[in-house]
Amino acid sequence: MTSKSAAAAARATVYGYPRQGQNRELKKAIEGYWKGRVTPDGLLATAAELRRDNWRHLAEAGVDEVPTGDFSYYDHVLDTTVMVGAIPERHRDAVTADPLGGYFAMARGTQDVAPLEMTKWFDTNYHYLVPELGPGTVFTADSAKQVTELREALSLGLAARPALVGPVTYLLLAKPAPGVPGDFDPLTLLDRLLPVYADVLADLYAAGAEWVQLDEPALVQDRTPAELNAAARAYRDLGALTDRPKMLVASYFDRLGDALPVLAKAPVEGLAVDFTGPAAANLDALAAVGGLPGKRLVAGVVNGRNIWANDLTKSLATLGTLLGLADRVDVSASCSLLHVPLDTAAERDIAPQILRWLAFARQKTAEIVTLATGLSLGTGAITAELAANRAALASRAESPVTRDPAVRARAAAVTEADAHRSQPYPQRATAQRAHLGLPLLPTTTIGSFPQTAELRGARADLRAGRIDTAGYEERIRTEIQDVISFQERTGLDVLVHGEPERNDMVQYFAEQLTGYLATRHGWVQSYGTRYVRPPILVGDISRPEPMTVRWTAHAQSLTDRPVKGMLTGPVTMLAWSFVRDDLPLGDTARQVALALRDEVDDLEAAGTSVVQVDEPALRETLPLRAADRAAYLAWATEAFRLTTGGARAETQIHTHMCYAEFGDIVQAIDDLDADVISLEAARSHMQVAHELATHGYPREAGPGVYDIHSPRVPSAEEAADLLRTGLKAIPADRLWVNPDCGLKTRGWPETRASLENIVSATRTVRNELASS
Ligand code: GLN
Ligand code: ZN
Repeated sequence: MTSKSAAAAARATVYGYPRQGQNRELKKAIEGYWKGRVTPDGLLATAAELRRDNWRHLAEAGVDEVPTGDFSYYDHVLDTTVMVGAIPERHRDAVTADPLGGYFAMARGTQDVAPLEMTKWFDTNYHYLVPELGPGTVFTADSAKQVTELREALSLGLAARPALVGPVTYLLLAKPAPGVPGDFDPLTLLDRLLPVYADVLADLYAAGAEWVQLDEPALVQDRTPAELNAAARAYRDLGALTDRPKMLVASYFDRLGDALPVLAKAPVEGLAVDFTGPAAANLDALAAVGGLPGKRLVAGVVNGRNIWANDLTKSLATLGTLLGLADRVDVSASCSLLHVPLDTAAERDIAPQILRWLAFARQKTAEIVTLATGLSLGTGAITAELAANRAALASRAESPVTRDPAVRARAAAVTEADAHRSQPYPQRATAQRAHLGLPLLPTTTIGSFPQTAELRGARADLRAGRIDTAGYEERIRTEIQDVISFQERTGLDVLVHGEPERNDMVQYFAEQLTGYLATRHGWVQSYGTRYVRPPILVGDISRPEPMTVRWTAHAQSLTDRPVKGMLTGPVTMLAWSFVRDDLPLGDTARQVALALRDEVDDLEAAGTSVVQVDEPALRETLPLRAADRAAYLAWATEAFRLTTGGARAETQIHTHMCYAEFGDIVQAIDDLDADVISLEAARSHMQVAHELATHGYPREAGPGVYDIHSPRVPSAEEAADLLRTGLKAIPADRLWVNPDCGLKTRGWPETRASLENIVSATRTVRNELASS
């Protein structure tokens, strides 16, 4: 391929970069500041150094235009809230008195003041702080952070492009402030917000910005005509400004759909468009609208959310097609590199032949630069890179690590019957009642008990070699014994072993399944200073040996009451991992499901009568576009049913989900055909119970009566009231009593008190039922 003659040389750029630093220096500095060990100036200096290191690194790697303002001490949506002056009333004094302290107070709350709500950034595992707006919101521009960071990069002699959350996405992500009616639509504030963006743009222009990036990922979701009109109006108004940098409107995570013609027509100078995954459809759509004549197109051809080496040849072909559709084509990742770890070079435990299949932020940056070079100068300029890339891709495709014929054959042989229990629910319920002999309103917990400092210490001791495996396992057995005897004393009906052996509900299984890869330093920001290391689904999944049976069996040996086996479901295993790009998600889910199905089988054989398969992520992996949801839910529910379909009729299958908005997936929840589901409900006062009732949910359910996200102990009266509310929606013979979620983040004192209160509330309500 040769580049199109006189077209401007393609530039390499990224929209954002991991913030934490090579050794998570930012986390350490921020947490040190919280504890009073790091001064505010010390924190600011560390942050400035990390930003400079990132820019230098990007520039040295060959990136032509670096992003600024993407850095954050906590979250970029919170930064936008500060930028537009939408500080919630309850935080205003604190922010005025001490901007840095007040900023963290908004993020984390204080003893007296609640933080902003936190929720997931689209379908990623990054969480942002939800803006709180109302009819009384007054916006004022505060461009200080953006201007400072732009100046820092410019002073290094770099071409820098400030990155901002766009005004439409900002409003679409907001919710009504406390006290504001729930039907308030933040988008009605657009005309008030745009002048503030105009001020910020003017400040950035004055500070030397040639381009500014406005992120509008909300436009890849299904949008109403009114919302699309708002986007058109926003960019028409901002476009008409004279004192402003050129605008690059960035979208990512999915296809633009109806928003594409809107943006294509808008008086902005550039669009950044995702061409990976489901967003690949943007390619044809762009041609259909006649391309972007006169505009700059930044092509997101390197997937910014997965960790796989790019297929450079394929990306070059996409870029070649795009050359005919815009004035100028630049190269980037599909989204900010915030969502991937920093550098594969840190992974000393991963075999070199596997490591070359992977690309973290540093490697993706190099890919982007290579592609930009290839686009500008022709493939002759990147021969070596292309050859190495082809070899890496071929070695992956041919490797026995990625393909296990036995697993493939088993997955291919799955029948419709495998994904169904042998008997329908009414028969199962009868068999389970006879087998388990549980009282009305059975009490249980969601699985984990407090992960104490001693437990984490024991794991650290094991890793450091201070204790051996036998010593560690003895420690776990003792913990299980304590947890079982506590539950018996408290009077719970279905017990759990407490999950003391699990570092994390996904990693624990990933470490034991063949086909999964763990990283040592693959940290990705989840929220604030919390980072996770998602395991990597690298090959076909199989289970060399039972993963949980000995712990559950040990727990069961200590009591006559039923102990629930506890598994993480296939959908959640995928949702909290980096998934394959060489196999459909549904196929991976099916492989994981078959491995878990064997575990269910082994648990039954070891005498377990109740097995819980957790699927807290079922809702969050729902595709952004409604049109894609049915296909997702089909494989997701099939994977769950395949996990549990082999269970005997008298074995009671539980599932658990913790997500406030179940409304749109009630049918899918029903399709799981679990005998019992426990759900988060305490904060919303059992709303989910009503949603289930409205749907006609036919099986048993335990809407949570104890909000475990707070150290607060619910009183017995309060729990009893929630139960009475629950009974209005779910009949007594199908209602369970349990907390909202696992107790691993709680301390023992509040756990003890809360569970005692729940059991006492249950006794009260049982008596009321008996006497009525
Ligand atoms: N069984 C898990 C626990 O109790 C479930 C956790 C979750 O839903 N996130 O910890
Ligand atoms: Zn949960």
